[in-house]
Amino acid sequence: MKICRFNHDRLGIVCGDEVADVTPALDAIPALHWPVAPGDVLIRHWSLIAPRIAALLPAAPRFALAGLSLLSPITNPSKIIGIARNRRNLASEKIDLGEGSANQRQDGDPIQMFIKAPSAIAGPSDGFTPRFEDRRTDPEAELTIIIGKPGTQISEADAFQHIFGYCIGLDMTLRGKESPSSRKSIDTYAVLGPWIVTGDEVSNPDALDMHFTLNGKLVQQANTRDLAFGIAQIVAHASRFYTLHPGDAIMVGTPVGFEPVKPGDIMRAEFSQIGAMDVRVHDYA
Ligand code: MN
Repeated sequence: MKICRFNHDRLGIVCGDEVADVTPALDAIPALHWPVAPGDVLIRHWSLIAPRIAALLPAAPRFALAGLSLLSPITNPSKIIGIARNRRNLASEKIDLGEGSANQRQDGDPIQMFIKAPSAIAGPSDGFTPRFEDRRTDPEAELTIIIGKPGTQISEADAFQHIFGYCIGLDMTLRGKESPSSRKSIDTYAVLGPWIVTGDEVSNPDALDMHFTLNGKLVQQANTRDLAFGIAQIVAHASRFYTLHPGDAIMVGTPVGFEPVKPGDIMRAEFSQIGAMDVRVHDYA
Protein backbone atom coordinates (compact mmCIF):
# COMPACT_ATOMS: atom_id res chain seq x y z
CA MET A 1 0.00 0.00 0.00
CA LYS A 2 1.17 3.50 -0.87
CA ILE A 3 -0.04 6.09 1.65
CA CYS A 4 0.09 9.79 0.84
CA ARG A 5 -0.98 13.14 2.26
CA PHE A 6 -2.19 15.47 -0.46
CA ASN A 7 -3.71 18.89 -1.09
CA HIS A 8 -5.12 20.24 2.18
CA ASP A 9 -4.14 17.34 4.46
CA ARG A 10 -6.18 14.70 2.68
CA LEU A 11 -5.22 11.07 3.32
CA GLY A 12 -4.77 9.13 0.11
CA ILE A 13 -3.98 5.67 -1.13
CA VAL A 14 -2.04 5.63 -4.38
CA CYS A 15 -3.57 3.22 -6.91
CA GLY A 16 -1.55 3.32 -10.12
CA ASP A 17 -1.81 6.84 -11.52
CA GLU A 18 -4.74 7.72 -9.26
CA VAL A 19 -5.16 8.54 -5.59
CA ALA A 20 -8.17 7.35 -3.61
CA ASP A 21 -9.25 9.89 -0.99
CA VAL A 22 -9.77 7.98 2.26
CA THR A 23 -9.61 10.99 4.59
CA PRO A 24 -12.68 9.91 6.64
CA ALA A 25 -10.57 6.98 7.93
CA LEU A 26 -8.77 9.54 10.11
CA ASP A 27 -11.93 9.68 12.25
CA ALA A 28 -10.61 6.45 13.80
CA ILE A 29 -7.89 8.42 15.60
CA PRO A 30 -8.90 8.75 19.27
CA ALA A 31 -9.15 12.19 20.84
CA LEU A 32 -5.71 13.39 21.89
CA HIS A 33 -4.99 14.30 25.49
CA TRP A 34 -2.02 16.09 26.89
CA PRO A 35 0.67 14.95 27.04
CA VAL A 36 0.52 13.37 23.58
CA ALA A 37 2.55 10.17 23.23
CA PRO A 38 5.68 10.67 21.13
CA GLY A 39 5.48 9.73 17.50
CA ASP A 40 3.45 10.38 14.38
CA VAL A 41 -0.30 10.24 15.08
CA LEU A 42 -1.13 8.54 11.77
CA ILE A 43 1.39 5.75 12.14
CA ARG A 44 0.75 5.26 15.87
CA HIS A 45 -2.95 4.66 15.19
CA TRP A 46 -2.53 2.74 11.94
CA SER A 47 -4.14 -0.43 13.33
CA LEU A 48 -7.34 1.57 13.86
CA ILE A 49 -7.13 3.50 10.59
CA ALA A 50 -6.29 0.61 8.25
CA PRO A 51 -9.65 -1.23 8.60
CA ARG A 52 -11.49 2.03 7.87
CA ILE A 53 -9.40 2.52 4.76
CA ALA A 54 -10.25 -1.00 3.58
CA ALA A 55 -13.94 -0.25 4.04
CA LEU A 56 -13.77 3.14 2.31
CA LEU A 57 -11.53 2.20 -0.60
CA PRO A 58 -14.03 0.63 -3.02
CA ALA A 59 -16.21 3.76 -3.15
CA ALA A 60 -13.57 6.40 -2.38
CA PRO A 61 -13.35 9.42 -4.70
CA ARG A 62 -10.38 9.11 -7.04
CA PHE A 63 -8.17 11.84 -8.46
CA ALA A 64 -5.42 11.82 -11.03
CA LEU A 65 -2.12 11.70 -9.18
CA ALA A 66 -0.55 14.15 -11.61
CA GLY A 67 -2.81 17.00 -10.52
CA LEU A 68 -2.28 16.67 -6.76
CA SER A 69 -0.02 18.50 -4.33
CA LEU A 70 1.86 15.88 -2.36
CA LEU A 71 2.88 16.69 1.21
CA SER A 72 5.18 14.83 3.58
CA PRO A 73 3.43 11.57 4.49
CA ILE A 74 4.53 11.93 8.11
CA THR A 75 4.05 15.12 10.07
CA ASN A 76 5.16 14.71 13.66
CA PRO A 77 7.80 12.04 14.17
CA SER A 78 9.62 12.25 17.49
CA LYS A 79 12.87 12.46 15.54
CA ILE A 80 14.53 12.12 12.19
CA ILE A 81 17.76 10.15 12.37
CA GLY A 82 20.39 10.57 9.69
CA ILE A 83 23.23 8.20 8.92
CA ALA A 84 26.41 9.92 7.80
CA ARG A 85 28.73 8.67 5.04
CA ASN A 86 27.13 5.24 4.88
CA ARG A 87 28.99 4.13 1.78
CA ARG A 88 31.35 1.33 0.98
CA ASN A 89 34.80 2.29 -0.24
CA LEU A 90 34.86 5.71 1.37
CA ALA A 91 38.65 5.69 1.28
CA SER A 92 38.63 5.54 -2.51
CA GLU A 93 36.36 8.56 -2.90
CA LYS A 94 38.17 11.57 -4.28
CA ILE A 95 35.70 14.31 -3.52
CA ASP A 96 36.17 17.58 -1.70
CA LEU A 97 33.00 18.97 -0.17
CA GLY A 98 34.88 21.61 1.78
CA GLU A 99 33.92 22.51 5.30
CA GLY A 100 31.38 20.33 7.00
CA SER A 101 32.47 17.05 5.50
CA ALA A 102 35.19 16.33 8.07
CA ASN A 103 34.75 14.64 11.48
CA GLN A 104 32.67 11.87 9.91
CA ARG A 105 33.38 8.22 9.46
CA GLN A 106 36.29 6.60 7.72
CA ASP A 107 36.27 2.98 6.54
CA GLY A 108 36.09 0.74 9.61
CA ASP A 109 34.45 3.29 11.90
CA PRO A 110 31.10 2.56 13.61
CA ILE A 111 27.77 3.84 12.29
CA GLN A 112 27.62 7.63 12.57
CA MET A 113 24.23 9.12 13.44
CA PHE A 114 22.95 12.66 13.66
CA ILE A 115 19.51 14.10 14.38
CA LYS A 116 17.47 16.31 12.08
CA ALA A 117 14.76 18.41 13.72
CA PRO A 118 11.21 17.35 12.75
CA SER A 119 10.50 21.05 12.08
CA ALA A 120 12.73 20.66 9.02
CA ILE A 121 10.16 18.45 7.27
CA ALA A 122 8.79 19.52 3.89
CA GLY A 123 6.88 17.61 1.25
CA PRO A 124 7.50 17.48 -2.50
CA SER A 125 4.92 20.16 -3.29
CA ASP A 126 6.24 22.47 -0.56
CA GLY A 127 9.57 22.60 -2.34
CA PHE A 128 12.92 23.34 -0.76
CA THR A 129 13.83 26.79 0.53
CA PRO A 130 17.59 27.25 0.95
CA ARG A 131 19.15 29.65 3.43
CA PHE A 132 22.59 31.27 3.46
CA GLU A 133 22.96 32.47 -0.10
CA ASP A 134 26.74 32.72 0.26
CA ARG A 135 27.15 29.07 1.24
CA ARG A 136 26.90 25.71 -0.47
CA THR A 137 23.85 23.44 0.01
CA ASP A 138 23.84 19.89 -1.33
CA PRO A 139 20.93 17.51 -1.81
CA GLU A 140 21.41 13.95 -0.56
CA ALA A 141 18.81 11.50 -1.90
CA GLU A 142 18.27 8.69 0.58
CA LEU A 143 16.02 5.74 1.22
CA THR A 144 14.12 6.63 4.38
CA ILE A 145 12.84 4.09 6.89
CA ILE A 146 9.56 4.86 8.66
CA ILE A 147 9.28 3.10 12.01
CA GLY A 148 5.99 1.40 12.87
CA LYS A 149 6.15 -0.69 16.04
CA PRO A 150 8.02 1.17 18.77
CA GLY A 151 11.05 -0.40 20.38
CA THR A 152 14.41 -0.04 22.00
CA GLN A 153 17.45 -2.31 21.83
CA ILE A 154 15.96 -4.06 18.81
CA SER A 155 17.96 -6.98 17.41
CA GLU A 156 18.88 -7.09 13.73
CA ALA A 157 16.74 -10.23 13.46
CA ASP A 158 13.69 -8.30 14.69
CA ALA A 159 14.42 -5.04 12.88
CA PHE A 160 11.99 -5.51 9.99
CA GLN A 161 9.11 -6.12 12.40
CA HIS A 162 9.59 -2.53 13.56
CA ILE A 163 9.56 -0.99 10.08
CA PHE A 164 6.24 0.41 8.87
CA GLY A 165 7.48 1.30 5.42
CA TYR A 166 9.74 3.43 3.30
CA CYS A 167 9.75 6.75 1.54
CA ILE A 168 12.29 8.91 -0.23
CA GLY A 169 14.19 11.53 1.73
CA LEU A 170 16.26 14.48 0.63
CA ASP A 171 18.75 15.13 3.42
CA MET A 172 19.47 18.71 2.42
CA THR A 173 22.83 19.77 3.77
CA LEU A 174 24.32 23.18 4.30
CA ARG A 175 28.11 23.01 4.21
CA GLY A 176 30.02 24.73 6.96
CA LYS A 177 31.65 24.42 10.34
CA GLU A 178 28.51 23.99 12.46
CA SER A 179 27.47 20.55 13.69
CA PRO A 180 25.58 18.37 11.19
CA SER A 181 22.43 18.64 13.33
CA SER A 182 22.53 22.42 12.87
CA ARG A 183 23.26 22.39 9.17
CA LYS A 184 20.69 19.70 8.31
CA SER A 185 17.80 20.91 10.51
CA ILE A 186 16.98 24.18 8.79
CA ASP A 187 13.30 24.53 7.78
CA THR A 188 12.58 22.41 4.65
CA TYR A 189 15.99 20.65 4.82
CA ALA A 190 14.21 17.30 5.36
CA VAL A 191 12.12 16.66 2.28
CA LEU A 192 10.02 13.48 2.62
CA GLY A 193 7.79 11.91 0.02
CA PRO A 194 6.18 11.24 -2.30
CA TRP A 195 4.34 8.64 -0.14
CA ILE A 196 5.06 5.79 2.26
CA VAL A 197 5.24 2.33 0.72
CA THR A 198 4.41 -0.23 3.39
CA GLY A 199 7.13 -2.74 4.15
CA ASP A 200 5.21 -5.70 2.73
CA GLU A 201 5.49 -4.16 -0.76
CA VAL A 202 9.27 -3.70 -0.69
CA SER A 203 10.78 -7.09 -1.41
CA ASN A 204 14.33 -6.20 -0.39
CA PRO A 205 15.10 -2.66 0.81
CA ASP A 206 18.80 -3.57 0.72
CA ALA A 207 18.68 -3.92 -3.06
CA LEU A 208 16.82 -0.90 -4.47
CA ASP A 209 18.07 0.97 -7.51
CA MET A 210 18.02 4.73 -7.17
CA HIS A 211 18.95 7.78 -9.14
CA PHE A 212 18.90 11.49 -8.52
CA THR A 213 18.90 14.20 -11.15
CA LEU A 214 19.29 17.95 -10.92
CA ASN A 215 17.57 19.78 -13.78
CA GLY A 216 17.62 16.49 -15.66
CA LYS A 217 21.36 15.94 -15.19
CA LEU A 218 22.29 12.65 -13.51
CA VAL A 219 24.04 13.32 -10.18
CA GLN A 220 23.60 10.08 -8.25
CA GLN A 221 23.01 6.54 -9.48
CA ALA A 222 23.36 3.66 -7.06
CA ASN A 223 21.72 0.75 -5.29
CA THR A 224 21.01 0.45 -1.58
CA ARG A 225 23.30 -2.59 -1.56
CA ASP A 226 26.13 -0.03 -1.87
CA LEU A 227 25.44 1.10 1.70
CA ALA A 228 28.16 0.14 4.18
CA PHE A 229 25.49 -0.61 6.80
CA GLY A 230 22.22 -2.27 5.79
CA ILE A 231 18.67 -1.55 6.87
CA ALA A 232 18.48 -4.05 9.75
CA GLN A 233 21.86 -2.98 11.09
CA ILE A 234 20.80 0.66 11.05
CA VAL A 235 17.51 0.08 12.90
CA ALA A 236 19.24 -2.08 15.51
CA HIS A 237 22.01 0.45 15.98
CA ALA A 238 19.70 3.45 16.29
CA SER A 239 17.56 1.62 18.84
CA ARG A 240 20.61 0.99 21.05
CA PHE A 241 20.72 4.76 21.57
CA TYR A 242 17.10 5.89 21.24
CA THR A 243 13.66 4.42 21.69
CA LEU A 244 12.19 4.39 18.20
CA HIS A 245 8.62 5.69 18.08
CA PRO A 246 5.94 5.23 15.40
CA GLY A 247 6.64 7.49 12.46
CA ASP A 248 10.27 8.12 13.33
CA ALA A 249 12.25 8.48 10.13
CA ILE A 250 15.74 7.19 9.46
CA MET A 251 17.52 8.54 6.40
CA VAL A 252 19.95 5.74 5.67
CA GLY A 253 22.67 7.69 3.89
CA THR A 254 23.32 8.92 0.39
CA PRO A 255 25.44 7.46 -2.41
CA VAL A 256 28.36 9.31 -3.91
CA GLY A 257 27.59 12.21 -6.25
CA PHE A 258 27.26 15.77 -5.05
CA GLU A 259 26.04 18.87 -6.85
CA PRO A 260 25.00 22.05 -5.02
CA VAL A 261 21.54 23.50 -5.63
CA LYS A 262 20.38 27.01 -6.45
CA PRO A 263 16.98 28.70 -6.70
CA GLY A 264 15.00 27.53 -9.71
CA ASP A 265 16.54 24.05 -9.79
CA ILE A 266 14.36 20.95 -10.00
CA MET A 267 15.52 17.97 -7.97
CA ARG A 268 14.20 14.53 -8.90
CA ALA A 269 14.79 11.44 -6.77
CA GLU A 270 13.62 8.00 -7.80
CA PHE A 271 13.87 4.64 -6.02
CA SER A 272 12.69 1.33 -7.46
CA GLN A 273 9.59 -0.06 -5.70
CA ILE A 274 9.05 3.34 -4.01
CA GLY A 275 8.49 5.90 -6.77
CA ALA A 276 9.81 9.29 -7.77
CA MET A 277 9.43 12.83 -6.53
CA ASP A 278 10.21 16.21 -8.04
CA VAL A 279 11.12 19.04 -5.70
CA ARG A 280 11.60 22.66 -6.70
CA VAL A 281 14.30 24.83 -5.14
CA HIS A 282 12.79 28.19 -4.14
CA ASP A 283 14.48 31.52 -3.56
CA TYR A 284 16.57 31.94 -0.42
CA ALA A 285 14.61 32.46 2.80
MN1 MN B 1 22.72 12.31 4.36
